[in-house]
Amino acid sequence: MKVLVAETCGFCRGVKNAITLAQETLATHEKVYCLGHIIHNDDVVRKLTQAGLKCVENIDDIEDGTVLIRSHGATRAEIEHIKSKGAEIIDATCGLVKRVQQIAQNLNAQGYKVLLVGDKNHPEVRAIVGWADDICVVAGADDLRKISLDKKLGVICQTTQSAGYFAEMIKEIASRDFSELKIINTLCKETKKRQNSAVELCKNVDIMFVLGGLQSANTRKLAELCKMHNECTYHLQNLSELDQELVKGKKIAGVTAGASTPDWVIDEFVEGLEKI
Ligand code: SF4
Repeated sequence: MKVLVAETCGFCRGVKNAITLAQETLATHEKVYCLGHIIHNDDVVRKLTQAGLKCVENIDDIEDGTVLIRSHGATRAEIEHIKSKGAEIIDATCGLVKRVQQIAQNLNAQGYKVLLVGDKNHPEVRAIVGWADDICVVAGADDLRKISLDKKLGVICQTTQSAGYFAEMIKEIASRDFSELKIINTLCKETKKRQNSAVELCKNVDIMFVLGGLQSANTRKLAELCKMHNECTYHLQNLSELDQELVKGKKIAGVTAGASTPDWVIDEFVEGLEKI
């Protein structure tokens, strides 16, 4: 079958940097830990684990050694806890995520209550919350009803959300009581480019595949957006998950991938599809 690949897809700068740091650290250090998964992609994490990276969920499982901070960042308390264990820290937090952590702190220092639009269970969001003193995560209108908004509000967004969703939430917030509203666009441009390119492509194909980790927020958002424009959209991790029945009767397939999906996963998938 004919396969078209989105113009912009796959690894972003932040993810590339985190993987390079992990590989360099593994080559030069003895005991290397990562708090959580360095990026949200099981194929990449498996390779790094095979090369010696120890992914732990709990800081108490870290003995002496070196700790990589994943691309999504870590809270201030987690960083202090790691330091108190005498471990060396190598920070692979994406620069754009660090910027959002700094913006949240600055807004608090200027007297704004921070409203962070995003998914409260996502590690990036949890880390940003951990750097601010007066901050609430909002995912929908229901969350807004639960908090008092009668003060100066500073609104920011999880980097990987879509511009449309951020705009909807701003509209909701703006309809409530507040004394001042400051909005800072903290969306990642890399994510936006992937979203625009995927939406463009999915409109012109019979079936659309979005490749990437099931936990990856930016991949899930890509799949959600594609589904809105092409019902026949599937979020898969790699070629092994492709059910050939899905493509029966289809002539053109589109492929895109989240910012944490490596090229070799995309290439293998495209080759597999082309053979059908
Ligand atoms: S998607 Fe954007 S914010 Fe997330 S790691 Fe990549 S560059 Fe950084």
